[in-house]
Amino acid sequence: MHSVPEIPISKPIMGQAEEEAVLRVIRSGWITQGPEVADFEKEFAEMVGASHACAVSNCTTALHLALLTAGVTPGDEVITVSHSYIATTNAVLYCGAKPVFIDIEPGTFNLDPSGIERALTARTRAILVVHQMGMPCNLHEILDIAASHNMPVIEDAACAIGSEILWKGRWEKIGRPHSDIACFSFHPRKLLSTGDGGMLTTSRPEWDSRFRLLRQHSMSISDTKRHHANHVTFESYREMGFNYRMTDLQAALGREQLKRLPEIVANRRHRAERYQQLLSEIPGIIHPIEPQWARSNWQSYCIKLPLSCDQKAVMQQMLDSGVATRRGIMCAHRESNHSQSPLVAPLTNSELAQDHCILLPLYYQMTDDDQKRVATSFRKSINAN
Ligand SMILES: *Cc1c(COP(=O)(O)O)cnc(C)c1O
Repeated sequence: MHSVPEIPISKPIMGQAEEEAVLRVIRSGWITQGPEVADFEKEFAEMVGASHACAVSNCTTALHLALLTAGVTPGDEVITVSHSYIATTNAVLYCGAKPVFIDIEPGTFNLDPSGIERALTARTRAILVVHQMGMPCNLHEILDIAASHNMPVIEDAACAIGSEILWKGRWEKIGRPHSDIACFSFHPRKLLSTGDGGMLTTSRPEWDSRFRLLRQHSMSISDTKRHHANHVTFESYREMGFNYRMTDLQAALGREQLKRLPEIVANRRHRAERYQQLLSEIPGIIHPIEPQWARSNWQSYCIKLPLSCDQKAVMQQMLDSGVATRRGIMCAHRESNHSQSPLVAPLTNSELAQDHCILLPLYYQMTDDDQKRVATSFRKSINAN
């Protein structure tokens, strides 16, 4: 086995506070979904400014519950992007629905709102947008179009914890939510991690109740409630549900991670700016674009290489020098399992982004010297390939 590169693509931040939090839960005698999850939900809701937050096992299951709650049923179509982690498309398939793929804008890697109306059919039931790599998508335009067709909108905000959008003159956190539901991930590749974990936010109390029911097999009285009851009570199960629970071990981790968020976001914004400066004079490369109404959390820093550059060779040369990178975000429609999904127009920008972009290392523990080393390695590899 090879050793990991000296400069990895990302690193979770785990300290003594996290260790103590998990220990507290282990010693409490209640380790699955319970009081820590309830507190994490409250604190997360407060952080994004949402009225409701419901924790689940990961963001893929959050997306599944969001689509079901928005009324997506077998045979329906959901307008979304192909250019996203496979979870976005799989959540649509879990509902028995078809993802209908539209293209992205080249600079932000986000859904191009002008593609939505051409993708609408009589079977369209929802629009699933992504804040790709933490960059807020154009919710203003998307929500206007959706409203004129009475379409629910769900935000795949897996990467967007701490990102902000200018909303009616004020900077607001992604997840208030501005659409109907927003879904977040706590996988180690995102800004905050609970190992695995997810969160749904909504402003509709009845939808929040739905998430809570479905995440625990539609159990009418939760185990936590029965555990604390003085009277013997029996629960019932009136419809099919799922085991999509987050554990208290994860939630306790999440609560500590949440305290670190402002510092993590500030650090990533500083590093992103620095990448722009360090790599400003390399001809032919394109830096990501942050629209004036968006503040990214820079979950990833994605650079488009000159078309003449060999993406894989650049990545290999950087890896050989101890610097890990990743290719541009994948396109689901190119995977054999999804090649039957309908697409609207060619997905040119999506494919170009996958084939010609690379993601650079970005993590809290990175030093100025580490970042310089990445820049040097990048410059050398671009020139050689
Ligand atoms: C990471 C990610 C997901 C999946 O999140 P999990 O918590 O791993 O299920 C979904 N969508 C996008 C855009 C992601 O980046």
